[in-house]
Amino acid sequence: MQVRTLIPKYDGLLIDAYGVLVHDKGCYDGAQEIINFLTTTKIEYLIVTNDASRSIPSLYKRFQNLGLDIPEDRITSSGSMLTPVFKRRKLRNKNTIVLGTQDSIEMAKTAGAKIVSPESSLPLEVVVVGDEKEFPLLDFCELTLSKIIDAYDEGRNVELVVPNADVIYPKKNGFGFAAGAIANMIESGLQVARPKCNWRFISLGKPEPFLFENAVKLLKSKNLLMVGDQLLTDILGANNSGLQSLLVCSGIAKYDSEHAIQPTYVCDSFSPDQKVHVVA
Ligand SMILES: [Mg+2]
Repeated sequence: MQVRTLIPKYDGLLIDAYGVLVHDKGCYDGAQEIINFLTTTKIEYLIVTNDASRSIPSLYKRFQNLGLDIPEDRITSSGSMLTPVFKRRKLRNKNTIVLGTQDSIEMAKTAGAKIVSPESSLPLEVVVVGDEKEFPLLDFCELTLSKIIDAYDEGRNVELVVPNADVIYPKKNGFGFAAGAIANMIESGLQVARPKCNWRFISLGKPEPFLFENAVKLLKSKNLLMVGDQLLTDILGANNSGLQSLLVCSGIAKYDSEHAIQPTYVCDSFSPDQKVHVVA
């Protein structure tokens, strides 16, 4: 079976971006072809990426620059889950420190956050760790931790949110620390300083259910296929949400039949003519 014959069995596709359509230097062979195939055959799809460092308009522009004609309303990210989560947990208009890029701040603002600086004297209510760049890392982490501890000591609650909990990411000559590492650092500090405090960061990216639930709601079906390159995020998240999955081996994971997490299908790369192997 080829990808082009598998896809129409589903009401829609959830497609991971990095490792499936794009890599750090461009897009994979076949990526433009698959997007054009989905467009011309009118198959529903959503991009579901854990990237929280770029806003949806920035992701849209990046895809367009790479020749991937993906409409903005088909792009969802762990960062864009701030909006439903802020609504559901009643975090709108609360004093929120955002550690991250200008795009991270914009996404929190869109979700309804009232942004405060870590140097502000206003009582802290929410912390969002959006990214590791564009702020004085150690100074702001120390100020944020201190304000969380102050709130705990004063009997006030602080909600901790990390849209993308990835700890590291592959870099040109090795690895870089990502937002998850910053959340872990703040959480570790809090646990040492106040061992009885059970506040923990909630993550909004895959494999957590937020992006999957959002997709089921937007595409109005549970007969969806998740296409991704990572077992611990894409495939595990799909399995937990009761969706079928296609593991694409162009990115991080190589297929391992002994692994505890198994996809429904496997293929080498994501393009219409690629051969698909059935796992389960
Ligand atoms: Mg990926």
